[in-house]
Amino acid sequence: MQLFKNREENVFDGSYPSNWDEIRKKVLKRDGYRCKECGTGNKKFHVHHKIPISEGGSHNLENLITLCEYCHNSKHPTKFYLKRAIKESRMTKITYENNTGYVSKKKVDPYELIFYKNMEFLVGYDHEKDSIRIFRPKRVKYVNITDLIFFPPKNFSAEDFLKRNLTFPEKSTEKFSQRIPEKEKSGCFIATASYGTPHAEEIDILRDFRNKILKRRRLGNLIVNLYYAYSPPIAKLISESEVLKSLVRECFLSPMVKIMKKIDFKN
Ligand SMILES: [Zn+2]
Ligand SMILES: [Zn+2]
Repeated sequence: MQLFKNREENVFDGSYPSNWDEIRKKVLKRDGYRCKECGTGNKKFHVHHKIPISEGGSHNLENLITLCEYCHNSKHPTKFYLKRAIKESRMTKITYENNTGYVSKKKVDPYELIFYKNMEFLVGYDHEKDSIRIFRPKRVKYVNITDLIFFPPKNFSAEDFLKRNLTFPEKSTEKFSQRIPEKEKSGCFIATASYGTPHAEEIDILRDFRNKILKRRRLGNLIVNLYYAYSPPIAKLISESEVLKSLVRECFLSPMVKIMKKIDFKN
């Protein structure tokens, strides 16, 4: 079973045969090392499939053409923008057509584009669904890159996620989405609100504490569940007040973090 990331800019259109490099060189040579669209030479060249593999195109020379990077990007605008958003860790607003043809707008933090089983997938966080989901890039009709920077969950592997959650037939891909595992979630509403971000080092420590100590004990579990039931409204209150934020931070969270740092709960 083969699983690999986009190896090159030009790996866009589906699966690639083992002799792809050979084929690629043949195409570049045939086209005289020039972009067949704008005629430029001496650039980074891409070999493009005139008819995409996903639409029944082949890797035969007749279906392949040399393009410069610029011209190639214009052939795949949505993927070009997705890749840029991934690289810059920026939230996107996408227009997405699901497998039933239903078109909707979504806010997505795009984590990674992955080729798997001859298909391309996008793994990303769906803001409305509050979960990490698997998308098909070919169903992304429009991409709007926002200014909002996202932080992927700690130690998250998009490849592992895809392997774990993808089942076939591919048709119902969207249903294989999964809630973000508890430990990958932002963790603590009150702490997050107080520090203003779910990624402060202190929050990592609190999260570890919750996962490794509290969740292993019955009483701990009860506390965690009560906490999750009651803390969001409190967190909202805190996030709206700078005074409350620093009060909670200094008088409650910081001392707690200090104590936790002293306890070794790594194992
Ligand atoms: Zn292409
Ligand atoms: Zn060109």
